[in-house]
Amino acid sequence: MAGTKTLTIIKPGAVRNEFIGPILAKINANGFHIAALKLIRLTREQAERFYAVHREKQFFENLISFMASGQVVVAILEKENAVADYRRLMGSTDPLKAEEGTIRKMFAENIERNAVHGSDSDENAEIECDFFFARSERFSNFTD
Ligand code: GDP
Repeated sequence: MAGTKTLTIIKPGAVRNEFIGPILAKINANGFHIAALKLIRLTREQAERFYAVHREKQFFENLISFMASGQVVVAILEKENAVADYRRLMGSTDPLKAEEGTIRKMFAENIERNAVHGSDSDENAEIECDFFFARSERFSNFTD
């Protein structure tokens, strides 16, 4: 059975542009429960750990500098089929390719400054939720 949670990050560009409210509203309007939420600033070391799978990519250094450049909102989102449904709501990594009505189409600046992160598998969702949130900071509607 598909999992019921995913981890999102509202990235520094979208926070700077005052899109926290509009993005959270869109998330709620699409049936996600916000089970955990905080506004933080990532250190470079945290950003490097979070995006470790991309360490060899040519865009890695820019991505890390960007992710550590300002505040981010991190949140655990819950609904049935959370990972796939949130990836559909986010839209393609490159906002130029993102479908109308998706978060990245509406709020992203470019492929790097693309407004939001969303977990890409249930396994990574578990790892990413644990990366940012203690059990005592989570308020789940599910009993998993
Ligand atoms: P996602 O799962 O859609 O976020 O995409 P990936 O896991 O492939 O990439 C992680 C993040 O790296 C993306 O959200 C972008 O911020 C950034 N990124 C991915 N591909 C590129 C690229 O080709 N160029 C640049 N500058 N950044 C990229």
